[in-house]
Amino acid sequence: MTQATETFADALMGFTLPSRNARGRIVRLEGVLDAVLSAHDYPAPITHLLSDALVLGALMGGLLKGKQAQLTMQAQTSEGIVRLLVCDYRDGAVRGYADFDADRLAKLGANPTLSALFGEGYLAITYETEERQRYQGIVPLEGDSLAQACESYFSQSEQIPTLIRVASRAGASGRMAAGLLVQHLADGEEGRERLHVRLDHPDWEHVAVMAGSISHDELLEPGLSLETLAWRLFHEEDEVRVLPGAQLSRGCRCSSEHYAAIIARFPPEEQQAMRNDEGIIAVDCAFCSRTFALAI
Ligand SMILES: [Zn+2]
Repeated sequence: MTQATETFADALMGFTLPSRNARGRIVRLEGVLDAVLSAHDYPAPITHLLSDALVLGALMGGLLKGKQAQLTMQAQTSEGIVRLLVCDYRDGAVRGYADFDADRLAKLGANPTLSALFGEGYLAITYETEERQRYQGIVPLEGDSLAQACESYFSQSEQIPTLIRVASRAGASGRMAAGLLVQHLADGEEGRERLHVRLDHPDWEHVAVMAGSISHDELLEPGLSLETLAWRLFHEEDEVRVLPGAQLSRGCRCSSEHYAAIIARFPPEEQQAMRNDEGIIAVDCAFCSRTFALAI
């Protein structure tokens, strides 16, 4: 039983639909979102973009197994207004930041399109397993939203039919963002070779229609548990199997020790070149907007 005051925020829940060979993830972010955004003073379009990105990072990262596995999502352009958008996920911890041209952004208005923000860009999704194996897929940054670009990543790079919905809004008690990801698994088991995935598979078509009926209001309804959401969408199915969830947090791995260890790998003359007049090496963490002054 959950308490009446529960807001079901900052959580990730997985589920499977065994009879449809499908799996899903649902994410809702609230305090974590504020924690990430509070490190920056972003204008509204960037706040919106980064909110979506963090939800997507948690949805896709939530597919990983193992505490050391990491997902990194990077959207990049050379001529675009948003030069770089990065977020990553590891063991329930999310972080992210954006680098953009504030002057050009200010001329765009309140609700710029994805192509207005990025121009011609690409989206790179990198999975790193616990064994430090890396898999990267790159797709053009096309469509109406980052979520659509992520769907393209799954269909083009992974050949996995996938539906993603993301919603975010500014509320009275801060910002909230949430999302749903469902995907078809060809043989019903994770990790096996996907030989016969068809986008028009009848089971998948049914799951996609049901999942696609979710509204932004439902995703963002604080009193609605993630389990209830999955149940609402798929209550006609034989079984909705809910997987153990994860509490999400805002995490960064920056520390003086972390950067000192990295810098120690550089030859002494290169370390010398990094020092300022006081002999200090200053390193910035773009995720946290923090500078570490290393006297090493
Ligand atoms: Zn940091």
